[in-house]
Amino acid sequence: MTISIALVYPDLLGTYGDSGNAAILAQRLRWRGHEARVLTISAADTVPADCELYVIGGGEDLPQDLAAARLREERPLHRAVENGAVVLAVCAGLQILGRSFVGPDGKESDGLGLLDCVTVRSTSDRAIGEVVVEPAGEWASAGLPLLTGFENHGAVTELGPDARPVGTVQVGVGNKDGTIEGAVGGRVWGTYLHGPVLARNPRLADLLLSWAIGPLDPLDDSEPEALHAERCEHGPAERRGTVRAGGGRAGGGRAGGGRAGGGRRRLR
Ligand code: GLN
Repeated sequence: MTISIALVYPDLLGTYGDSGNAAILAQRLRWRGHEARVLTISAADTVPADCELYVIGGGEDLPQDLAAARLREERPLHRAVENGAVVLAVCAGLQILGRSFVGPDGKESDGLGLLDCVTVRSTSDRAIGEVVVEPAGEWASAGLPLLTGFENHGAVTELGPDARPVGTVQVGVGNKDGTIEGAVGGRVWGTYLHGPVLARNPRLADLLLSWAIGPLDPLDDSEPEALHAERCEHGPAERRGTVRAGGGRAGGGRAGGGRAGGGRRRLR
């Protein structure tokens, strides 16, 4: 059986490189001997409802609104989720999958209601930079280590009672105020982490794949694990502004890695 991964509207929601998540899911399946294909669905196409996995990425406010309007009208993701599909939704994708979000004109738009969350305009500065998240207990038990990514969003998200967070923010803003990150409901995983998040966090890729196809053979992940370790170590200092991305010292502050130290950080 060929496992199908739908990459939803990369022409609208492809600003932050999140399309790579689809390639990573497919390749990790192929390395294990499965047949996998990525269906790239542009805004001119109809999104199929019968794929095993869906990837929807981040983007700017106007294309986000257009994507949401089409998905609301045609409801392919609703049908796919009813069929048991796994969905990875990043930033604008997460916002669209919630109950509502702020549109480009600052007005509230309806989301798809596939995650119990609402997204509103932030009263703080835009959240930009490296993020480190400690997975919530249930995800840690499922094998997730610290999660690393970068965020870039001007809106913030509040969870309702039916959404579980991905985890606790060690560095960065995450959903709203540097406390929690992400929204998970059923097999829908929403996160603010770009990277692409699955390139930086191969264990998250495998968690999502295991939801789709069951237990997985192990892979040699020494290369992505090295990236993961490097980002978990140096991302916090970059966010604090004590080093520049790539290693150069920015002056002041303590350079170098270590845990997130002062940890939760809100950009102001
Ligand atoms: N437009 C949204 C915001 O700024 C999403 C941005 C993104 O996808 N990175 O909040």
